[in-house]
Amino acid sequence: MDLNKNLEKYADLIVRIGLNLHAGDNLAIRLSEHSLPLARLVAKKAYQAGVGDIQLMFNDDVITLDRFLEAPAESFETYPEYLVDFTEKLFLDNHHVLSIIAPNPDLLKPADPARIAQWQKVAGMASKRTMKYTMQNKVKWCIVAVACPAWAEAAFPGMPEEEAMQKLWENIFLATRIDQEDPIAAWEEHDSRLKAHRKFLNEARFDRVHYKGPGTDLMVGLVKNHIWEGGCGFSEAGDRFFPNIPTEEVFSMPDADRVDGTLRATMPLSVRGQLVDDFHFTFKDGAVVDYDAAVGKQILDDLLKTDEGAKHLGEIALVADNSPISNTGVLFKSTLFDENASCHFALGAAYSENLEGATERSEEENRKLGMNDSVIHVDFMVGSKDVTVTGIKADGTEVVLLQDGEWMI
Ligand code: ZN
Ligand code: ZN
Repeated sequence: MDLNKNLEKYADLIVRIGLNLHAGDNLAIRLSEHSLPLARLVAKKAYQAGVGDIQLMFNDDVITLDRFLEAPAESFETYPEYLVDFTEKLFLDNHHVLSIIAPNPDLLKPADPARIAQWQKVAGMASKRTMKYTMQNKVKWCIVAVACPAWAEAAFPGMPEEEAMQKLWENIFLATRIDQEDPIAAWEEHDSRLKAHRKFLNEARFDRVHYKGPGTDLMVGLVKNHIWEGGCGFSEAGDRFFPNIPTEEVFSMPDADRVDGTLRATMPLSVRGQLVDDFHFTFKDGAVVDYDAAVGKQILDDLLKTDEGAKHLGEIALVADNSPISNTGVLFKSTLFDENASCHFALGAAYSENLEGATERSEEENRKLGMNDSVIHVDFMVGSKDVTVTGIKADGTEVVLLQDGEWMI
């Protein structure tokens, strides 16, 4: 594998397909030390594509962890308003946003979970104003990932660092189709396949979806006038972009008040730098009424307590088992990758693009229609070869959507 050549192709894919940058656009890049080589390539190509201004928003894992361990307690009680103002000003000035993550699934393990939960809540509340720019696709946004030693160690425990890094990069390039001769053509083809599933689901007008598998028997109502999305999205200005690279999901909006039954997660969940494993939820009338986890139960306790919406679902996503990501057989321990290898749900905020007319109604009106609202949006995986997913129409007609991990439609 030629890392430099692949990074060039990766940057190209991000600029042309991920964010579809062109003259008149500006760009904000969220990055860390590990993201720099890719960020530099992206920036160069972005300027060449006509981007006028690029702002860097830098984060460092070591400093982040030290803050949670050492900073005074009161500094976690308020979020600097000027940071929210700054981000909003960037969006209003036509900055689109690229997040180049280098996940460390265990980063905050030594930190106090209560402090993490509090900060999540404070930062989430303060950022609501800016979160809507991405949740409503007002701007173009894209999340991609790069390898880093901590992530490589989590994904390939026990392997020597250099070898693990190499293996992680290879799998990132497989999952993102960068390994293919022409990744851009591969993405166009992939997009049209996702669109075909999307079209079928949108025309079927299912009332609810049933999940059946080991430890899972769950009925999830869909909001009326829901929209299945998948593949590219479109910004407010009508520009095509891909919010996630990779993406394999076709997703819609569950009715936050019509979810009943039990589901068992099929993969561990890395949330806020902490791992939860071997867990299940029981829902009644849309709310989580019972749950347990063999690892990280306290993290779920805090998560579900964040606000009322944290106990309800905001996303239902269907993913086939036969995809470049699944076929790697790697448990990445990063949501961006693992959620695209498995059917999943999210607890918390729903995406307005999944409900007709959502952006024209108030939050309260949307909530009455079943659209969940929360400061969190946390995806967790429920799919596997053993889980059958069936769409059910209002008249009771049933259509098997996924069986043995494969699309049946
Ligand atoms: Zn999703
Ligand atoms: Zn999600």
